[in-house]
Amino acid sequence: VHVIQHVDHLRALLAEHRVRGGTVGFVPTMGALHAGHLSLVDAARARSDLVVMSVFVNPLQFGPNEDFAAYPRDLAADRAQAASRGVDVVFAPDTEALYPKTGAAPVRVIPELDPPRWEAAVRPGHFAGVLTVVAKLFNIVRPDVAVFGQKDIQQATLIRAMTAALDFPIDLVIAPIVREADGLAMSSRNVYLSAEERIHARALSRALRVAEERWRAGERSADALESAGKAVLDAETGVRTDYFAVVEPERLEPVGRAAPGSIIMVTARVGRTRLLDNIILGA
Ligand code: AMP
Repeated sequence: VHVIQHVDHLRALLAEHRVRGGTVGFVPTMGALHAGHLSLVDAARARSDLVVMSVFVNPLQFGPNEDFAAYPRDLAADRAQAASRGVDVVFAPDTEALYPKTGAAPVRVIPELDPPRWEAAVRPGHFAGVLTVVAKLFNIVRPDVAVFGQKDIQQATLIRAMTAALDFPIDLVIAPIVREADGLAMSSRNVYLSAEERIHARALSRALRVAEERWRAGERSADALESAGKAVLDAETGVRTDYFAVVEPERLEPVGRAAPGSIIMVTARVGRTRLLDNIILGA
């Protein structure tokens, strides 16, 4: 695996690959890699003949009281994991490489969200930070295919909207959520959980499963599905639910009745850690 820090160096390597007719698959991450990230590598690999993974903890997407400084960073471990899964190039720029001089972006990509809901309501500026860095990375890497995780469904939905709105000629793939054996969605932030919190955290996926069972049994009322899931979360001490909502897949607006393809999203705080999970309802 090549580890590249400079934009020009990466562009040169990819240009050489492209003149030979090669295609490029891209997996953006913030590092602290786990099996969820590595599943995205497999999806990119299956659709392209060179896989680029970026590892960049993007300051622009963190609020002033969030965990930018504490976010887990271990490039040596990430490099080893990426290499073992067949990543060809790890792009690990420093902040200066992407945000020269000021460390911030003088121009940003801002989603029109009216009203801002869910994470956009709780984390002002977060998605502008995400879209800005993804747009920059798309222009640097110029991938044929880019892979994102369903784990961050709000992010994936906005990246899909940006790709269409700004005419990026890139195929997007949204890969399924990889979970721990007990159901907890894998996340780099799970390392923040104490042993006790780790047990409470199972309630998120359990609540989604309970709501999904009600859906499978024929329940279509969003209120009823939400009540069933919230009851599971409320019964778990140490879990504070921000939202548990049935939404449609295009703009993630709330729905009154669930349909195939509707998404149930949950966000809850366990101790000081915010956890996100979701499921897509089947036919
Ligand atoms: P992050 O490093 O947290 O920014 O995540 C990088 C990419 O990995 C994003 O597209 C995430 O949605 C995806 N991802 C994170 N956790 C998981 C998971 N448990 N399963 C699948 N994809 C994931």
